[in-house]
Amino acid sequence: MMQKKTVAFSKESANLFFHLLTRCNLSCSHCYINPDQHGKNTLPIDTIQRWLVLFAKKASQTNLIFLGGEPTLHRDLPAAVKEAKRLGFHSITIDTNGFLFHDILKKITPAEVDVISFSLDGATSATNDAIRGKGSYDAVISGIHRARKKGFACSMIYTVSDKNLHELSQMPELVSSLDIDRFFIQVIGMRGKSAGAGKKTQVSKDLWLSVIPEVARTIAQTGVIVTYPKVFLDPEETFACAGIVADNYFVFPNGRVYRCPLCEDYPLHAYTIENDALVPSPPVNETHLFELTIPEGCVMNKIIQPDNLDYLADGEPAHRIACCMLKQEIHPQP
Ligand code: SF4
Ligand code: SF4
Repeated sequence: MMQKKTVAFSKESANLFFHLLTRCNLSCSHCYINPDQHGKNTLPIDTIQRWLVLFAKKASQTNLIFLGGEPTLHRDLPAAVKEAKRLGFHSITIDTNGFLFHDILKKITPAEVDVISFSLDGATSATNDAIRGKGSYDAVISGIHRARKKGFACSMIYTVSDKNLHELSQMPELVSSLDIDRFFIQVIGMRGKSAGAGKKTQVSKDLWLSVIPEVARTIAQTGVIVTYPKVFLDPEETFACAGIVADNYFVFPNGRVYRCPLCEDYPLHAYTIENDALVPSPPVNETHLFELTIPEGCVMNKIIQPDNLDYLADGEPAHRIACCMLKQEIHPQP
């Protein structure tokens, strides 16, 4: 038995995606970091601590995710984790490419970090390393083993594109051998390097719907919670933009704060952190786009990745695109 549900947006809880730096040891072909928009700096620990305080009013309802670049390249990540814990954030996650620099596992404890989340984009090193870089497959597998040995809860993120969809069906076996708690399927976004490549790597609607839900169910049968983006709304479903009905913040080390990840390639951020205060950006910014109602659903999708839209003979969209933050979750039943 399994339980599938759509995760509804809520103003009750918030997500804070905190990019501590943009530097990384890898150079993944789909990396969404865009130095022209996100800068190249590494935030000093005292700045990180002050910026955490900025978002701490709702700390007990906020899930905090530390990312980069590669966040474990930041020598003060353990101090950032400890400050976040002191401020009482609801959950603390570290997103990593697996290399776990600076002996991070020795400097934090499972009582301080709720989840360490590893990115893997192939069931084999050949496919994963072609996308993420030589040695990255082994780093993730070894990183998960080391983290589990120390008692950390681990999850995995698999970003689906036409380069690795074919290996998703091999993931249930790998996942069940790794003792992880959650598996996240992501859809590749046409931003950062993917946008620059000028070639569509997202999979078609038919392929997505024929592969993803089935693989997600199979992985959930191994006892792992599986989350994947809805992407295509069913005809009876209502469209909602998380920028309006939810509380998500994507903070970059140059002070930009976005409400929508699809906007990150553009200077459309809703806020800028200036002198440790959250300052609303002047018009036009992403919040003005969220208010636009279009028959295709997500307005940013239509602007930056219209290739995934199809139209009927009368000009009406054949389907609507959901907010990229709308997820399906499959829970294995005990
Ligand atoms: S590990 Fe993450 S930050 Fe580093 S290159 Fe890959 S996608 Fe970009
Ligand atoms: S992805 Fe689309 S629907 Fe979701 S927050 Fe961004 S603009 Fe709104």
